[in-house]
Amino acid sequence: MIYQRSSALFTEAQRYIPGGVNSPVRAFKSVGGVPVFMKSAKGAYLTDEDGRTYIDYINSWGPAIVGHTHPVVLEAIQKQAEKGFSFGTPTELETEVARFIVNNVPNVEQIRMVSSGTEACMSAVRLARGFTQRDKIVKFEGCYHGHSDSFLIKAGSGAVTFGNPNSPGITQGTARDTLLARYNDIEQVQDLFRHNEGEIAAVIIEPVAGNMGCVLPENNFLQELRKVCDANGALLIFDEVMTGFRLAFGGAQEAFGVKADLVTYGKVIGGGLPVGAFAGRNEIMDHLAPKGAVYQAGTLSGNPLAMRAGLETLKLIKNDAGFYDRINKTTETLDFEIGKILNSKDIQHRINRKGSMMSVFFHIAAVSDFDEAQRANHSLFNNFFHHMLKNGIYLPPSGYETYFISDAVKEEEINRTLEAVQSFEYSNK
Ligand code: PMP
Repeated sequence: MIYQRSSALFTEAQRYIPGGVNSPVRAFKSVGGVPVFMKSAKGAYLTDEDGRTYIDYINSWGPAIVGHTHPVVLEAIQKQAEKGFSFGTPTELETEVARFIVNNVPNVEQIRMVSSGTEACMSAVRLARGFTQRDKIVKFEGCYHGHSDSFLIKAGSGAVTFGNPNSPGITQGTARDTLLARYNDIEQVQDLFRHNEGEIAAVIIEPVAGNMGCVLPENNFLQELRKVCDANGALLIFDEVMTGFRLAFGGAQEAFGVKADLVTYGKVIGGGLPVGAFAGRNEIMDHLAPKGAVYQAGTLSGNPLAMRAGLETLKLIKNDAGFYDRINKTTETLDFEIGKILNSKDIQHRINRKGSMMSVFFHIAAVSDFDEAQRANHSLFNNFFHHMLKNGIYLPPSGYETYFISDAVKEEEINRTLEAVQSFEYSNK
């Protein structure tokens, strides 16, 4: 059996860890089979506990954009570690990171570091509520903003993969303050504002959704949201945990030319160590403690190892003029070539792509919202996933997730990936 050691490790893990994993999608529950336990990663490749290697298209769900264990980042972390792991005091490094981001990202004057994307989004919403003195927020079906209570209402990612977009444990009071709209449906958003006049603090959105599979904003949706928020005195929050430093250095704000009031970051910003952040202009950020009254804190926030990993990763990207063109081109090639092969096999599909994010939906109609993402053929996705896995290609283990392409994927990896797609056999008849 090819996953022998993974299988034994998973059995053991389930004795001590709920479901054997520390984050649900890792359990392969929707695709079935044994989750592969990895022991190391380098460049474009993961190596599992049975010694098999895989070309990685998840990249730790986004952070490893320069490839795994980049030598420059590794050396910087090692050097930093020799100075100490955590001080619980301010450090010069935190200002260096903040200054670098503020100077290179549009429309951000101050940034607060946290340790996860969940914390970033939760804190941004609290700040928006404190700033506007309103309670309600608007979120979109199929978007995932971490696992804090307000967001687990029709959430995407693992929440939907496991059939629980509304988690038990969320109080009705909390649920009442989260208003839902369909992604790409500006009229629904306008309706919500009409029916909740003066009550909506913020609209939060994944500017390119990645948690119902990859779904793009259409018909100037982001620009329209900006207008609706302005007309109603509500803040627009871009959850750029996936898109930040990935679609462009300035994320979706730069890629789409739309300014958000608050932006949240995660994944790439930490280069693989636990980092999240939220940012905005002074007028809003000044409301945060200790300067302002909105409370937010963290024992390990701004941790030196995490800051160092993030800063070195961001510098690698920023100092490489061809970086985004390269990863976008790789992704475009994968999109076109995978599409060609699936067409030649008569397999109905839609590939959504923006920058270096993409998803293959096995579906006949265009996918521009959560309902359509749900209508895709997820059992075919599962077959595809396992076929690719067996052939050494590591895709996200759910049809509600996105591929994150790294700069370590080159021609050889693309060719091996396409060979694996080519050998996929499925009959539509
Ligand atoms: N927002 C988005 C858009 C995400 O994709 C995620 C995680 N996948 C989060 C927030 C939560 O981040 P974390 O898992 O680091 O808490």
